[in-house]
Amino acid sequence: MPAMPALLTIDEALARVLQQVQPLEAVDVPVAEAAGRVLAEDVRAVVDLPPFRSSAMDGFAIQSSDAPGRLPVVERIAAGRPATRALRAGEAMGIATGASVPDGADAVVPIEHLTDHGDEIEVSQAVDRFDNVRPIGGDVRSGDAVLGAGSVLGAAQVGALAAAGIAVVRCTRAPRVAVLSTGTELRPAGEKLGPGQIYESNGPMIAAALAASGAVIESLEHVDDDHDAHRSALAQGLTADVLVSSGGVSVGPHDLVRRIEAELGVEEVFWGVAVKPGKPLAFGVRGRTLVFGLPGNPVSSLVSVELFVRPALLALQGAASPEPRYASGTLTAPLRANKDRDQLVRACSRTVAGETVLEPLSGQESHMIVRAAAADALVLVRRGGGDLAAGDRAPYLALR
Ligand code: AMP
Ligand code: MG
Repeated sequence: MPAMPALLTIDEALARVLQQVQPLEAVDVPVAEAAGRVLAEDVRAVVDLPPFRSSAMDGFAIQSSDAPGRLPVVERIAAGRPATRALRAGEAMGIATGASVPDGADAVVPIEHLTDHGDEIEVSQAVDRFDNVRPIGGDVRSGDAVLGAGSVLGAAQVGALAAAGIAVVRCTRAPRVAVLSTGTELRPAGEKLGPGQIYESNGPMIAAALAASGAVIESLEHVDDDHDAHRSALAQGLTADVLVSSGGVSVGPHDLVRRIEAELGVEEVFWGVAVKPGKPLAFGVRGRTLVFGLPGNPVSSLVSVELFVRPALLALQGAASPEPRYASGTLTAPLRANKDRDQLVRACSRTVAGETVLEPLSGQESHMIVRAAAADALVLVRRGGGDLAAGDRAPYLALR
């Protein structure tokens, strides 16, 4: 097996991955099932929101010029049950939050700001026009944009679409991702370990990570470090939109993945990234299938997923900005830079006086997945950029 070529930087490697991505076709998806998906086209509101002048408070609708004063209560308005007539000068109508403000009224006085005598109210202070009245279309106007193509649909976006009256959206179809673990030493959890064996953890971990980015996962049974077993499993995985294998991409005699993928027609785009952990990452394509060979160490696999596979999935779905989004926080402890490779250091984040504080964890070796499970952040320590001190700010990726 030849030695690894010069390592790409994280940014170069990600650019080469994204260059290979062609977005998938669009399909109709009910909004209620669209969480995690990416919009394939712009969406416009089908109603004004709010569709009517609505009350922001529980209180009484009045004419603001009648305050202060005592006003008879002529009607009580519930949400979804508009008043039977317009409000006249000198009158009050009880009104609930979200109910339609009657014609003739220009303000709502909250219950807390008046005395309720049952058949009349006493307002002791002046009231401004439009107090607690939400205007028609104050959130969005019918026909205006709700979300643009490429938006990733999280909870707020699903809520916005539903509120704006949209029942079905065009989304790119969910990518099919085959996940394959390689290694003769692997056993599934639940079985008894023999000598030299460990439990297979990358498969379920990668599946969990990618299902959260809209993928439909096809988990293949893990394979021994054996040519024929690799060949049939990899061939099957190559029928998916994305094949993600783990293990077998280093320089050892049992590392078969790249060689057998080449036999199966995969064109390698790169092998080797200047990152720690995750250096031996391999990436290639066969037709439109993206082929990721992740390193076997579980933390290496986890980091590779965040840096490269998740962005690829988002790009396949047409996301407007698929790249990992770094935030910035303050370190509680020094971190030593590596001369040759960017590092992603597992850390716990906390909020102190509104600022993010990052506490690097002990146990940073790439096999230590249990230690890594305590982390909710990957701190980026740039290579060659000098060591970081406690109190320095550093970029980090949030782990979900
Ligand atoms: P490899 O990249 O195949 O050389 O594997 C590197 C290390 O990761 C070895 O210690 C493997 O035992 C371990 N490893 C590989 N695949 C998995 C997996 N699916 N689950 C847990 N550990 C793994
Ligand atoms: Mg192996």
